[in-house]
Amino acid sequence: MSDVIRALIDALGPERVLTDALVSVRNTADAASLPPLRPAALVRPESTAEVATCLRICNTLHQPVVIQGGMTGLAGGAHPQPGEIALSLERMVGIEEIDTQSGTLTALAGTTLAAIQDAAAEAGFLYGVDLGARGTCTIGGNVATNAGGNQVLRYGMTRRNVLGLEVVLADGRVLRSLNKMLKNNAGYDWPQAIIGSEGTLGVITRVVVSLHPRPTGIQSALLAVGSVADAVSLLRRFDALLPGRLLVFEAMWREYMTVTVERAGLTRPFPGDPDLTILIEAAMGEDGSSGADAFAETLGLLLDEGLVTDAVVAQSQADRQRFWAYREANYAFGRLLPKGAHFDVSIPLARMGEAVARLRAEVAARWPSAIPIVFGHLADSNLHIGIYTPDFDAAMGRAINKSVYAIVADTHGSVSAEHGIGTLKRPYLPLSRSETEIAVMQAIKHTLDPHAILNRGRVLPDPA
Ligand SMILES: Cc1cc2nc3c(=O)[nH]c(=O)nc-3n(C[C@H](O)[C@H](O)[C@H](O)COP(=O)(O)OP(=O)(O)OC[C@H]3O[C@@H](n4cnc5c(N)ncnc54)[C@H](O)[C@@H]3O)c2cc1C
Repeated sequence: MSDVIRALIDALGPERVLTDALVSVRNTADAASLPPLRPAALVRPESTAEVATCLRICNTLHQPVVIQGGMTGLAGGAHPQPGEIALSLERMVGIEEIDTQSGTLTALAGTTLAAIQDAAAEAGFLYGVDLGARGTCTIGGNVATNAGGNQVLRYGMTRRNVLGLEVVLADGRVLRSLNKMLKNNAGYDWPQAIIGSEGTLGVITRVVVSLHPRPTGIQSALLAVGSVADAVSLLRRFDALLPGRLLVFEAMWREYMTVTVERAGLTRPFPGDPDLTILIEAAMGEDGSSGADAFAETLGLLLDEGLVTDAVVAQSQADRQRFWAYREANYAFGRLLPKGAHFDVSIPLARMGEAVARLRAEVAARWPSAIPIVFGHLADSNLHIGIYTPDFDAAMGRAINKSVYAIVADTHGSVSAEHGIGTLKRPYLPLSRSETEIAVMQAIKHTLDPHAILNRGRVLPDPA
């Protein structure tokens, strides 16, 4: 047993520090599909003080630590690297307070997103972040990755929903600002620097989020649209005609819809085969049928204007769930399609049509057996891309990466829209960030974690 593991057991007790076969399989791999690796030890603290004790020991002995939340991350950030100790927030779970006056919720970092959504709903509020991994991902992981999801258009990414944080720094110091106020300009807004830092700057232990009124009168529709240009005009027109009502504007390209019909067994929503299918949702308020009428009339106008070529409007909650089944069908694509390469990128809306056309052309020319799948949060400029082919191998994966990231760079997009950089995207960070930006990131990292014990090699290269 190493000195560091012995010191951790002495300080925290054997029930908090597990090794060998006692480490659960769950802690050996995140959702990035990398080969599982058992960490040197798994530490499961129950309090901020125990997190601080763990980090103080690891910092003194220069022991690298990987921080683990719900393990749903897709960039390899929580995936153990050889020799690392895993620090899991799985025992730091619970909603500590809902302040209905301030409209805030305070929770321990290991609390799942679903538990936060449910607690907010029970108190008559909405928490504005929602994503498919809601039942497993944690609020700490969401903050660390600045998670996005399905409602960014209306409520912003996690960053916009966080008011306060408690964070343990690499040397064990506790940095705390459990701020509940919308305005607080007293010096640097350090929590914003922690949000999205993917566990490289500190361990998030507590989070204060802001809550919103629950949207009412939600109307949903699937729309057939001929091009990205029409989809963007539709987005702007809808927002102008019904200001502030839009909640969701999700796009699925033709190849994606074909897979949902031919392989996932869903029925084709329209008789035609439009280039894009848009899932749109709007909160039309308490006015009952008049809200539904206004929604349908607006879509009618957009049909007359030619921005929409066909539309189906949900008449029931079952219809709404049926519409979401198209958007969420991608979670089964890994099972339904051959192997492939996956991307989470941003492309400026003005260049998105050009980017998808170039992607399709390059795939057809270079990998004719491949299916290019494109879908995502169009209103946020965020595309998820998958290139699937039975001929897939590592060399082809590298060539596809090069091709997709070249399109992203040429259209001034971002190599990561919402999943973060982790280890998988680290080689591509310079395509989206200048040398000076990366140097500033390294300087912040070095100041807060001089021995680079926290999530070493994630986001930034290992300094050693
Ligand atoms: C089905 C599915 C759907 C998804 N949909 C979306 C989506 O729509 N939008 C989106 O943004 N993401 C999505 N994701 C990705 C993932 O759910 C998010 O990145 C999520 O925020 C990760 O949370 P987690 O608790 O699972 O974190 P983990 O996977 O455990 O960790 C992610 C990163 O955060 C760090 N970290 C975790 N907890 C802490 C902490 N307390 N303090 C400091 N660092 C920490 C880890 O070290 C790692 O670098 C999806 C994933 C899946 C599997």
